[in-house]
Amino acid sequence: GTAQIGVTGLAVMGRNLARNFARHGYTVAVHNRSYAKTESLVAEHGSDGEFVPSETLADFVASLERPRKVVIMVKAGGPTDAVIDELVPLLEEGDIVVDAGNAHFPDTIRREAALKEHGLHFVGTGVSGGEEGALNGPSIMPGGTPESYASLGPILEDISAKVDGVPCCTYVGSDGAGHFVKMVHNGIEYADMQLIAEAYDLLRQGLGASAAEIGQIFAQWNTGDLESFLIEITADVLQHVDAETGKAFVDIVLDQAEQKGTGRWTVQNGLDLGVPITGIAEATFARALSGSVPQRTAGLASLPAHTQEWEVKDRDAFIEDVRQALYASKVVAYSQGFDQIAAAAAEYDWAIDRGAMARIWRGGCIIRARFLNRITEAYERDADLPLLLADPYFTDAVASGLPAWRRVVAGAAQNGVPTPAFSSSLAYYDGVRAERLPAALVQAQRDFFGAHTYKRVDREGTFHTEWSGDRTEADA
Ligand code: NDP
Repeated sequence: GTAQIGVTGLAVMGRNLARNFARHGYTVAVHNRSYAKTESLVAEHGSDGEFVPSETLADFVASLERPRKVVIMVKAGGPTDAVIDELVPLLEEGDIVVDAGNAHFPDTIRREAALKEHGLHFVGTGVSGGEEGALNGPSIMPGGTPESYASLGPILEDISAKVDGVPCCTYVGSDGAGHFVKMVHNGIEYADMQLIAEAYDLLRQGLGASAAEIGQIFAQWNTGDLESFLIEITADVLQHVDAETGKAFVDIVLDQAEQKGTGRWTVQNGLDLGVPITGIAEATFARALSGSVPQRTAGLASLPAHTQEWEVKDRDAFIEDVRQALYASKVVAYSQGFDQIAAAAAEYDWAIDRGAMARIWRGGCIIRARFLNRITEAYERDADLPLLLADPYFTDAVASGLPAWRRVVAGAAQNGVPTPAFSSSLAYYDGVRAERLPAALVQAQRDFFGAHTYKRVDREGTFHTEWSGDRTEADA
């Protein structure tokens, strides 16, 4: 074979990845279960570079130079297993199988172990940036063995997005690490989107501003610390007018947010690891609430508001308050996400460089933002930073916005504007900086009804109090 890399699965993502490889000068073997997609890729985009189309998987494998590098870009789940099962007997020791779909990381761990038995490298890779990113440069998060990265890595770095000439692709860690980090990326994306949506809602209800006016505020914000892809598209969306009705586009969209499941995976894993990723969890539940139609119908019909008339006295000051509250809440959501990565690295034995993750998210992906540079710098200052919020840059940034943050959350509560992500982020901030937490009372309750024991602040040991007896304390 002569092809340097192969792509099987040529729907939107696979087709664009194959074109991206070809445009970078690689000879690309292409295959799809149904041949029509392969034919149309070559017919429509043959001018992008060298494609070697095959109708069967066996021909496809034979067209690749050794060690073979096969990128699978099919529907996640069963279809990925089906393609792997068909590929394995056709491959030889040392070949590299890359799953670039949105696999759940436990599946990637399982598949990596299975392929290792056959002497094959399995590389579960996160790819972010949608179809546009796949074509023009995605953010790429590969796991698997370091040996496989030695030959595969340079090709992936080549086709990834670049920021200041630095590729948005780096080796993440063994087996499922790449897909894990992609999952957390998506979770953070949920939190970021929810926070932006809450900021919009506050401005809308607080100022009575139109969607277009708020779009202009976001466009302004996009020139400062908040500069990011999500803020930029929000400014654009809010200024868009529905052609049919002449109304603001956002007002004709049904307010029930859907999800494909990566937010849910992230929250489930946060629970498994015991990491409080409240920003991501609230964002995921906010989508669930929006889709809870019977509950919302009943709530709308029955629940009183008891709010006061919202009087924003200084328009510009309020806008600035919301901006600062958004930035502070966003720092919390990212801080929590990076905590989750650290906890997972310890749990699943991955050596993940968190600063490098922030670096490869600066371009190509949905959460690309100026602010990620600050995260990279924080982990450069201290690779083992236990709390991103406690890095001096973020401590200062959040502290200066703290009065605004409290005003916004208090105002939202007083005026009945639901801000689950803003509010829970502030609660997390106050929780993580508290000297004493009421967790002491929870421990006491647990010991009372379940003899679950407690520790004391003043001496070592584990204790239990005879609550139903004479209330003496004993070593447990
Ligand atoms: P889809 O997820 O819609 O999958 C369609 C592709 O899977 C087609 O090539 C189809 O072949 C193939 N396929 C489905 N079942 C089988 C099977 N049993 N055996 C062999 N091939 C099968 O395609 P996308 O391009 O949208 O996404 C590909 C992957 O990338 C997914 O894992 C997705 O989650 C992930 N991803 C998608 C993003 C996006 O923005 N869409 C962003 C990032 C990742 P056929 O043509 O023969 O039906």
